[in-house]
Amino acid sequence: MVPDGSSIRHLIVVLGDQLDRDSAAFDRIDPSLDRIWMCEAKGEAEQTWSSKQRIALFLSAMRHFAAELRARGWPVDYHQTDGSLGDVLRSELERLRPTQVILVEPGEWRVRESLTAACRSVGIPFDERSDRHFLCSREAFAQHARRRKQLRLEYFYREMRVRHRVLMVDGEPAGGQWNFDHDNRESFPRSGPGPVPTPLRFEPDELTQAVIAEVNARYARHPGRIETFGWPVTAEQARQVLDDFIARRLPSFGRWQDAMWVGEPWLWHSHLAVALNLKLLAPATVIEAAEAAWLEGRAPIAAVEGFIRQVLGWREYVRGLYWMKMPGYLELNALQASEPLPPWYWSGDTPMRCLREAISDTLELGYAHHIQRLMVTGLYALLYGVDPKAVHGWYLSVYVDAVEWVELPNTLGMSQFADGGIMASKPYAATGKYIERMSNYCEGCRFRPDRRTGPDACPFTTLYWDFLIRHEDRFKTHPRMALQVKNLTRLSEAERQAIQQRAGEVRRTPGLGDA
Ligand code: FAD
Ligand code: SF4
Repeated sequence: MVPDGSSIRHLIVVLGDQLDRDSAAFDRIDPSLDRIWMCEAKGEAEQTWSSKQRIALFLSAMRHFAAELRARGWPVDYHQTDGSLGDVLRSELERLRPTQVILVEPGEWRVRESLTAACRSVGIPFDERSDRHFLCSREAFAQHARRRKQLRLEYFYREMRVRHRVLMVDGEPAGGQWNFDHDNRESFPRSGPGPVPTPLRFEPDELTQAVIAEVNARYARHPGRIETFGWPVTAEQARQVLDDFIARRLPSFGRWQDAMWVGEPWLWHSHLAVALNLKLLAPATVIEAAEAAWLEGRAPIAAVEGFIRQVLGWREYVRGLYWMKMPGYLELNALQASEPLPPWYWSGDTPMRCLREAISDTLELGYAHHIQRLMVTGLYALLYGVDPKAVHGWYLSVYVDAVEWVELPNTLGMSQFADGGIMASKPYAATGKYIERMSNYCEGCRFRPDRRTGPDACPFTTLYWDFLIRHEDRFKTHPRMALQVKNLTRLSEAERQAIQQRAGEVRRTPGLGDA
């Protein structure tokens, strides 16, 4: 049995996004000397205005994990408190006085600061171990970055393929090329996507049901619906989601990666980010399963390469970037965007059909796929000029897979260009015509994607031209934006004024702007 507090050797801290059976935190654990420490800090859920599904996911998965650790015979101190993580840890350290705190690298800079500060303030040494869930350590990423003038995903991804011998044949990329993107990114025909495989969802067990009841009682005012909860909350369920994806969705992955369709939130995406980010599933396992499907002829190279690029490339890349750039990254605002987030982002109550669909999916399921996040909700905020921190707050709150190390570079960098081009080489700025091409959202919308002025002008299209006008000086010599900006020269002064006037109206109209 665990001795009383006075003789504890290691206090092993396990955070809500560290539910990893093979965590480095458990190396050399001695259950007769050490204790695992987990904490539901309710104050954290209230500080980030988390959606009901996101709160329920974390609480349920943490409680399942604690039960699993106890079943191994390991002592777990499980706390439920209203305070912040750092405060609770500090008072526990004062009480227990272990000889050392063991901690695997947290997923959020602020949490790392508060936990290490708690240890320092009580004078207990801490051993922060590298998170071997990831395939590229923070140090390896920093080394990669030091060798380059400019960071780009493609070079990093190739290095990762070579280093981990993924999709490599005799030292060459499988299929003779690194990237099969040109085979992907189709839109659906007018008849739509046809039958889409139903995703594997889980009936909440007793423990999850209790969590859902608790969330309904305590967080009733938080955004989103919880009745649809069906996410994996254990490693076994996560593995089932992976197997289901490999068998039923991977063969078509990528082909319609950028396509959107009313009433089809899941499409051929993997829905694995949730399990990966809680560490219920290791990226190495996911990559191995996808590669095996290709080797055994169960999925084509374009699909498998496209998927592996997301997991071995993007996911590792954004993590490296986050840790390299924090804490300053959070403060970046290259375009000096300062508008508040329109309030209907929390309800979906807008006549713009694309936004209504993307936000409804998000609030209903805690999920929307990448292009909905980047080219609908993200694009509108970019064009509108919303303060990037407010956009970040929204994404961190509403998605079940949101953890800051992955959410922040995607939101602030890729979608809002607030980092001035570190994450993306140019702003993802487009008119409503992009959305029309990639979806059926514009059918039945009261706006017209080809119009930039007038009462039926698509607000995306108006704000796109307004965006170019507002940032003309900045982008007119930009290697990847200059062509887009050059189109402004085709506008007469009267047209420019009409666009800016309409943009002003959009900003003042409830459901379009923040009025
Ligand atoms: P799939 O489309 O099936 O992709 C497979 C896997 O690749 C994902 O599960 C994910 O682990 C990884 N992946 C794909 N794209 C990215 C990317 N750009 N960055 C990092 N990993 C990637 N992803 C998160 O995991 N958490 C977030 O909080 C998050 N916030 C985002 C915010 C914005 C504004 C944008 C544009 C993207 C964000 N992403 C985030 C990236 C991406 O949209 C999600 O990973 C993806 O939509 C999750 O769904 P999926 O598991 O079905 O992914
Ligand atoms: Fe969205 Fe514009 Fe299309 Fe309406 S017309 S769905 S606002 S892109």
